Amino acid sequence: MQQITALKDLLQEPKEILITTHHKPDADALGSSLGLAGYLKKKGHVVTVVTPSDYPDFLNWMNGNNDVITYDTATNDELVKKLINQAEVIFCLDFSSLSRINEMGPYVQEASATKVLVDHHLDPEDFAQLIFSDTRAAATAEIVFELIRDLGDQALIDVHIGECLYAGIMTDTGSFRHPSTSRNVHLIIAELLQVGVNTSNIHRLIYDSHTETRLRFLGYVLKDKLTVLREFRTAYIAITAEELKKYDSKTGDTEGLVNFALSIEGVVFAALIIDRVNAVKMSFRSVGNFSVNDFARKHFQGGGHRNAAGGIAFEPLAATLSRFLQILPEYQDQLLKDN
Ligand code: 5GP
Ligand code: MN
Repeated sequence: MQQITALKDLLQEPKEILITTHHKPDADALGSSLGLAGYLKKKGHVVTVVTPSDYPDFLNWMNGNNDVITYDTATNDELVKKLINQAEVIFCLDFSSLSRINEMGPYVQEASATKVLVDHHLDPEDFAQLIFSDTRAAATAEIVFELIRDLGDQALIDVHIGECLYAGIMTDTGSFRHPSTSRNVHLIIAELLQVGVNTSNIHRLIYDSHTETRLRFLGYVLKDKLTVLREFRTAYIAITAEELKKYDSKTGDTEGLVNFALSIEGVVFAALIIDRVNAVKMSFRSVGNFSVNDFARKHFQGGGHRNAAGGIAFEPLAATLSRFLQILPEYQDQLLKDN
């Protein structure tokens, strides 16, 4: 309650506000950012959304997308630094550790702005003055909806803001099937329907917008790259930089692949391991009690949620994969336990 009162006070007068979110923003990262931006603009604030990297084209339909500034070390470092330094308030959405915004991390850390963290990841770092962290929330967009409502402004949530928030909740709940899909989630969705959000259209924009190449890449990966380790109830996919190149893979093209590995009967742990040249990026998913957050945190400098997390390794793909395979026996008992 205190926090929301403090936020209300902070936003009493029009402010210069910067909103940022994690590297390679997904629909929740971008949707919660643009939903919040839409609301704050209606309240008379000057708002800039800055993402630490590019994001998939299938998110470009969101209202406010055209004004997003994508940080790029080579082209706009000075501009972004300036924007961060002149902001009076910085909202950090959908991430819990400053390492998730890459080069922008130290700038935000040192900025004099009041920082507001809005997030649902585990173990938030202590860098913000106001913290709205709810690890039980299905999506950051759910928390943004609640913040706007608790600030007394639900009436300002129009169809444009609603679409952004819907996209975040829809994707982070796996289209309303993960256990995080609470009654509260459905009640919020009912409110978004009320303002005219076209839910099936948003689903289509996000999930049925594959290029032909992407679909063929998916076919190749499922046929030739998927490995199932029954003894660990684990399935993984490792993709080389050459394969990404061959299939002309774009940002977002590998999203969702890890879920195919998890969809195999009996599998409780899935990993997607991708050679991004400068680093190996990993996506982890689990069902039941096995915590991929703990796994990613302990072995791959990452984190996330219990059943969805990510990590990174600064060694070649083959070395990362063999380390992954060497670690698995440590977890065999946990993985074989009834989930
Ligand atoms: P994804 O596998 O979809 O990239 O990410 C799954 C979840 O883990 C997301 O909530 C994402 O924010 C988080 N995540 C992904 N990569 C990392 C990472 O390197 N570090 C941390 N702390 N979280 C990550
Ligand atoms: Mn999220």
